[in-house]
Amino acid sequence: MTDTPIVPPADRPLLQVRDLARAFHVRRAGGFFGRPATLHAVDGVSFDLRRGRTLGIVGESGCGKTTTARLVLGVLTPTGGRVEFEGEAVPAPGTAAWRALRRRMQMVYQDPLGALDRRIPVGQQVMEPLAIHGIGARAEWRSRALELLDAVGLGATFFARYPHELSGGQRQRIVLARALILEPSLLVCDEPISALDVSIQAQVINLLLDLQARFDLGFLFISHDLKVVRQICHEVAVMYLGRIVEQGDPDQLLVEPAHPYTQALVSAIPIAAAARRRPRLILKGDPPNPVDRPAGCSFHPRCPAATARCLVDIPALKPLPDGRLVACHVAHGEAGARPRAAA
Ligand code: SF4
Repeated sequence: MTDTPIVPPADRPLLQVRDLARAFHVRRAGGFFGRPATLHAVDGVSFDLRRGRTLGIVGESGCGKTTTARLVLGVLTPTGGRVEFEGEAVPAPGTAAWRALRRRMQMVYQDPLGALDRRIPVGQQVMEPLAIHGIGARAEWRSRALELLDAVGLGATFFARYPHELSGGQRQRIVLARALILEPSLLVCDEPISALDVSIQAQVINLLLDLQARFDLGFLFISHDLKVVRQICHEVAVMYLGRIVEQGDPDQLLVEPAHPYTQALVSAIPIAAAARRRPRLILKGDPPNPVDRPAGCSFHPRCPAATARCLVDIPALKPLPDGRLVACHVAHGEAGARPRAAA
């Protein structure tokens, strides 16, 4: 585990994640009779997040981004590493200390309709966290909910409406109002706009940016949409099979990606052929089964730049001269990283 020097409270990140790991014991094909195996869903993930900043986590389905979010929130217990929030280790899930801390870390889900109860007026749902946590006097709950409805751009007239009477964008605003009523300092947003119409997405992005500036929130923003990530994130981490493979400034990563996997993700963004700066890179095959993660660099079976060294050595995530972190032997020009055919 990485030793981190003691940091004065004022300089402390809102969220500090070090060597985070989560393994699951599973069975291979064959169900109950299948051989036991270990699935490393998250393996050695580290990052910092400060108040008022957004860290995006991107990657294909199954890369470990949602598991990372659940570990940060303490919903899942790590099998390695640690998460510190506001300078304190995240307590074990279900404990009183964890429930108290969870008030300060809220989650915004992809599907706002699924996150709301269709039978209850939305105003009551916005107030509900105050009742659950026993915060303030009952008489104040309604006025607080109305303040939050106002903050997310919905007026008092929405208080008595039901979720099915609202558009997708309005429902996501209700979810945000409910998350913010507990005055969190961290919002973990898991694909918060991917279920919305494109025309509504821009409004919700602007609202998120506005709320972040107003309440000095830190956002952990999970997405597969690189264009949205570039709009909203101060930093982005690209995950592949449970590990971060590239991390840095979104403009840097998305304009001149250094890792071949990031290059493939960027290359898949639909843009006009004339505007494309490099030829389209189509990856071979699907991501490998995480139970059978390839040796060496786990991206090597799909990587067009793989060398002999990539088959045996796991590349370390370390800085390039421009400051971004990359886990790739070839990007670092390391000795022994010769084309596979010449090896
Ligand atoms: Fe490709 Fe090798 Fe770099 Fe992995 S280390 S991304 S296989 S070039």
